Amino acid sequence: MGLSKLNGLYREVILDHANHPHNKHDIPDATSKMTVHNPTCGDTINVSVDVEDNRIKNIGYTGSGCTISQASASMMTEAVKGKTVDEALNMAKTFSDMAIGKQHPQEDLDQLGDAQILTSIMEFPARIKCATISWWALQRALLKKDDEEEEQ
Ligand code: ZN
Repeated sequence: MGLSKLNGLYREVILDHANHPHNKHDIPDATSKMTVHNPTCGDTINVSVDVEDNRIKNIGYTGSGCTISQASASMMTEAVKGKTVDEALNMAKTFSDMAIGKQHPQEDLDQLGDAQILTSIMEFPARIKCATISWWALQRALLKKDDEEEEQ
């Protein structure tokens, strides 16, 4: 895979998130859950999000898959925890846009924290889905209230 082509610092941050994931746990009483599969790579991400007063009070994920998908999920949960639903949806949009090569101002990118590293994933087209599925899962979890599974 293309990880070796990534800038060394970026690679280190990605591997650190993949090896020491943040918020990798289920939230049994979460207000919304969403599972997204990426069949082209075999990645599965289950996002549990607990929203209170229109704010993400807690978020966790479980799942399996490649380094990029797991690191991205860890970065995503870190980035959106404590944000309002609207802020989190905007961040998901920024990430998805950047991943397919659309530009956003730097202030949008700064919001993403470590996750902004993976916005350069469009240089590796085969990995775009790996990086974006956790953000899709978040988006769908926030926009829908009941449990549901979706194939990508
Ligand atoms: Zn993958």
